[in-house]
Amino acid sequence: MANKMSNNTKKSQYDLVIVGGGMVGASLACALGAQPLRIAMVEAVPYQAESQPSYDDRAIALSFGTHTIFNGIGVWPHLAEHATAIKHIHVSEQGAFGATRLHHSDEGVPALGYVVTARHIGQALISRLQTLKNVEVISPAQLSDLHHNEEFVSITVRKDNQSLVLESQLLIAADGGQSTTRQLLGISATKTDYRQSAIIANVSTQQPHGNVAFERFTPDGPLAVLPMSAAGDNHRCAVVWTQRGDKVEAIAALDEPDFLQQLQRSFGNRLGRFLKAGKRSVYPLYLMHVQEQVRPRVALIGNAAHTLHPIAGQGFNLGLRDVAALAEIIVNAQQAQADIGDLGVLQQYAQWRKTDHKQIIGFTDSLVRLFSNRFAPLHSARTAGLLALDTLPPVKHVLAKHTMGLAGKLPRLARGLSL
Ligand SMILES: Cc1cc2nc3c(=O)[nH]c(=O)nc-3n(C[C@H](O)[C@H](O)[C@H](O)COP(=O)(O)OP(=O)(O)OC[C@H]3O[C@@H](n4cnc5c(N)ncnc54)[C@H](O)[C@@H]3O)c2cc1C
Repeated sequence: MANKMSNNTKKSQYDLVIVGGGMVGASLACALGAQPLRIAMVEAVPYQAESQPSYDDRAIALSFGTHTIFNGIGVWPHLAEHATAIKHIHVSEQGAFGATRLHHSDEGVPALGYVVTARHIGQALISRLQTLKNVEVISPAQLSDLHHNEEFVSITVRKDNQSLVLESQLLIAADGGQSTTRQLLGISATKTDYRQSAIIANVSTQQPHGNVAFERFTPDGPLAVLPMSAAGDNHRCAVVWTQRGDKVEAIAALDEPDFLQQLQRSFGNRLGRFLKAGKRSVYPLYLMHVQEQVRPRVALIGNAAHTLHPIAGQGFNLGLRDVAALAEIIVNAQQAQADIGDLGVLQQYAQWRKTDHKQIIGFTDSLVRLFSNRFAPLHSARTAGLLALDTLPPVKHVLAKHTMGLAGKLPRLARGLSL
């Protein structure tokens, strides 16, 4: 597979190279790792490093559809013991009566979703990758250059002060919101700065969480309180607390009693008193998306193609549906002995993913804008909306289907079928 070009440059050939081994890139490697394809995955930051940007201590809400895809690609067995089921979702607004509730029993599923930490997702993906001989993980290594012609795409990566040249039929950009691949290709992105940041912390609560995920809209931004009892303690929750950018650092730096008091004021007493808060981390929030998802021999997936506000916990779930659709199209092309990097093949992927991207980006962006608006008539309309939604089962069912990642034309993996 490898040959030497000069003392300092080694050249290798693959069918597929994935740049970025974060949650989305590594999931694609797991999805395709059992296929007769030679795959390389290039990741800049070692998996075990504290600074690994994808696999930190954030709580991630996985939709039921994501659970099904993870099962199909052999990742769920490595993750299940760390997951807490979301059986109910409760949506409310601070200072208003209205609330909407979704229940797993109404949707006929064992759980509407699951909560895990990003770190545990990373460990599960790596455990699965270690069983897949067709995937070569090249890390820590960083993409530095990219060229493509009609037959192949060639990238240069820096690893241990050496340059490696990797040639492949198809290159996948899964290198996150600041994607170097995207920049080297000159693919432009539309970006909206929300001027909001999310504070993440684990808290313990006086009352058990009852497997309820709470989404509460406040004048400063949404607040999610997610059940986290993987360690057997059902008084533990993960908080994703959005704040205006100019206030966030001061709130994150409050001492524990003041932090808990402010949090209590925003959330109310549905879980009794907040008793303790763990380490806090801050994430600036923005919306970014590309118009061009594919070029000849290149496809963009996950945050490299769309970075969302975490308001409804949709970013990774959307990225994993990219993975399931792209894997299916690649396998179909390969079985038909077609060129997997052909633009016609990749356009099938871009076309398929268009509606889901448009709907989820539109949904999360509208929620942020609608609930960040303090205009009084809008406040009354929101209250009426939440109350009405709670009493309209067919509308709630549509909302639940989207939340669970089960709407639209689903890839085989999301339907519980193999590739
Ligand atoms: C506060 C917060 C809460 C969230 N909660 C949820 C949730 O509840 N549910 C949900 O579905 N989503 C959630 N998300 C979104 C989710 O985190 C992202 O959608 C997900 O991380 C995207 O994964 P990715 O692999 O596409 O990108 P990333 O996670 O950004 O990974 C990109 C990877 O590429 C690597 N890389 C970058 N540049 C290079 C290079 N030049 N060469 C090689 N490697 C490179 C990086 O080291 C990294 O490992 C949340 C996001 C935030 C900020």
